[in-house]
Amino acid sequence: MTAAISIGSPTREALRDDTLLIHAGRDPRHQQGAVNPPIMRASTIIFDTMEAYDRRKELFYDGVSYGLYGTSTAHALSAAIAELEGGSRTVLTGSGTAAIALALTAILQRGDHVLVADSAYQNTRTFCDTTLAKFGVETSYYDPTIGAGVEALIRPNTRAIYMESPGSLTFEVQDVPAIASIARRRGIVTLIDNSWASPLYCKPLQLGVDVSIQPATKYLSGHSDVLLGAVTTRDEALFKAIKDIAGRFGSNAAPDDCYLVLRGMRSLAVRMERHQANGLALARWLEGRPEVARVLHPSLPDDPGHEIWRRDFKGASGLFGVLLRSDSRDAIACMIERCRLFKIGSSWGGFESLIVPGYPQKARTARPWTERGFLLRFHAGLEDAGDLIIDLERAFAALRGV
Ligand SMILES: *Cc1c(COP(=O)(O)O)cnc(C)c1O
Repeated sequence: MTAAISIGSPTREALRDDTLLIHAGRDPRHQQGAVNPPIMRASTIIFDTMEAYDRRKELFYDGVSYGLYGTSTAHALSAAIAELEGGSRTVLTGSGTAAIALALTAILQRGDHVLVADSAYQNTRTFCDTTLAKFGVETSYYDPTIGAGVEALIRPNTRAIYMESPGSLTFEVQDVPAIASIARRRGIVTLIDNSWASPLYCKPLQLGVDVSIQPATKYLSGHSDVLLGAVTTRDEALFKAIKDIAGRFGSNAAPDDCYLVLRGMRSLAVRMERHQANGLALARWLEGRPEVARVLHPSLPDDPGHEIWRRDFKGASGLFGVLLRSDSRDAIACMIERCRLFKIGSSWGGFESLIVPGYPQKARTARPWTERGFLLRFHAGLEDAGDLIIDLERAFAALRGV
């Protein structure tokens, strides 16, 4: 029976991320020579002796005791994500949404208060406002640009601060190290949704955050065909608490999906380079268009989050926002529908370009969204940037004169 999977050579610390992505989570010597780890599908695991069976709980965190808690395929992926995040341990979940819900559930209990960024992903807000509220946890939202000002919002029962930077709809960059250091001093656990940058371009644990959450559905998998979440911590006790909860809720990261994400990760560095380049090319082109009021993209020099982004991130992804001057919903719908390459659809991080409308004014409670203009969120895929621009140019004709 397999115990913990071998994570790799002792010289691993010296590897840069691009190399690490190629070698992490696989060891051909233990895979009958195959380059990739096999897909190990299992519910039942057979034990040789009753003694071994009775001691199966010892295998819960690292080994293979029952399919629900992970087989060698899941362990290979979690080792690779943990290495990339610069953390020690990763819990895998069935989706990014499950990763968020389980991490919060593991950390919070009745009577606690949690501070959540006003720019957080809508499903995170809904989970806090409905499920956490139902179990007696109070949520309040903070202005994502508040930085160290978050200290004034801390209550005696504040147990956690939940960040998302940049926000995946409105793109405010948070002063994560400032918030994390205040929380650490006060014994408050910090969590962050690290979707936008992926662990390749941002390492929240190195910025002082306790829990980094990654919807592997997005950039890690990269092909719009799999749902998976990952929660990474440096602290062993926190890892165990989250893994325990995931087990109790029966949250399963399926072996086939783990395999697909690990396979996607091999090309993460080269894909991110193109997402970044295409995103910037589109952002710069859009900035120059008369139809556009503002582009929300932290790597543009005049973006309000630019300085913090430069300090804390190694790159930008392909996701950004655009505020259109037009407020004619019909004309904007017509414009998006005219695109041939950009498609309308939720999620992002795949190889293909997307546009969706966003309505941040509906969600905000801490800092009202006062920006003028209709918000579109773009995901720059891996196509040729010139082709994408031609596609938009044609579509923009629908806005002319509106
Ligand atoms: C998509 C997304 C999630 C949820 O991931 P799923 O795997 O789709 O459940 C969480 N946070 C952000 C910012 C996302 O964009």
